[in-house]
Amino acid sequence: MKSIRSNQHVYALSADMKPVATAVPRETVIFETCDALGGQVHSEQDVLSELDFDRVNPATGPLAVDGAEPGDALVVRIRRIDTADHGVALTGPGMGVLGDEALRHTTRILPIEDGVVRFDELCLPSKPMIGVIGVAPSEGSHPTGTAHRHGGNMDTQEIAAGATLYLPAFQHGALLAIGDVHAAMGDGEVCITGCEVAASVVVEVDVLKGRAPTWPTLETEDAVYILVSLPTIGEALVEATRQGVRFLERARRTSFEDAYILSSLAMNVRVSQLVDPNKTAKAVIPKHLFAGAVSESLWGAEEDLNVSSAIERGWKDRPVVRR
Ligand SMILES: [Zn+2]
Repeated sequence: MKSIRSNQHVYALSADMKPVATAVPRETVIFETCDALGGQVHSEQDVLSELDFDRVNPATGPLAVDGAEPGDALVVRIRRIDTADHGVALTGPGMGVLGDEALRHTTRILPIEDGVVRFDELCLPSKPMIGVIGVAPSEGSHPTGTAHRHGGNMDTQEIAAGATLYLPAFQHGALLAIGDVHAAMGDGEVCITGCEVAASVVVEVDVLKGRAPTWPTLETEDAVYILVSLPTIGEALVEATRQGVRFLERARRTSFEDAYILSSLAMNVRVSQLVDPNKTAKAVIPKHLFAGAVSESLWGAEEDLNVSSAIERGWKDRPVVRR
């Protein structure tokens, strides 16, 4: 099985980055990842303010996927995530949502064993998830610490083994990079870190021609998550709502208004993270609300962003598979 080592990493997802490996559709690849601190924290005396921030948030890769071109969806099926035997969590003055109230830099080293993360007397279930996962953007360069339409630091706890992530490809080969695994993290990631841990991530990559989603879209056993990252959480929550309603409009081939009402009854709009440079919200759509495959309702990134109403887009008259 192809493996990309953790020393093959980037600190930004850039339109012009060069792949370190290439895979074919349906190939399984292992990404070995450093923790988000770049392995700089070795004891509880190592505090956030003393870290070299140029070494924070390495993402392993990028991996080119044969056949992925702009307008396609890169499909990432997350098969397995194995973590190291301990993680770190830290905060301090100015960090996270309540940075004004945190007076001391505090670092915790957290043992991970037998499926739990130990915190004082507590055993928190170890639920490994991927914090940073993304592709080369359409232009320019985004530091791995931020998130946008290309993915990046979405810090969404459901990006975990068993889930499938659909990312919009903007460049030849898509160029996938993965890092920042957490063994535990709640919605919000409020203190600025999860349980940051080195890991081995096994994914199967695939390509769906012409189905680039407008925003990264995650499929789990029972729900679809549309992941929107914008400068404020307010903007992200509103755009996630809009994208969730539009997804249901397509998936059910119904009117905007009926999709809007159904969303109000059965869709959850939630926070993924509140602490990165762009904030991430998620529209959570239960799969029992529609009949077709999730992949059939992904499409048309540029079009969907630029045209104001579903009626003007006239999507109902068009075939599902388009470029
Ligand atoms: Zn992290």
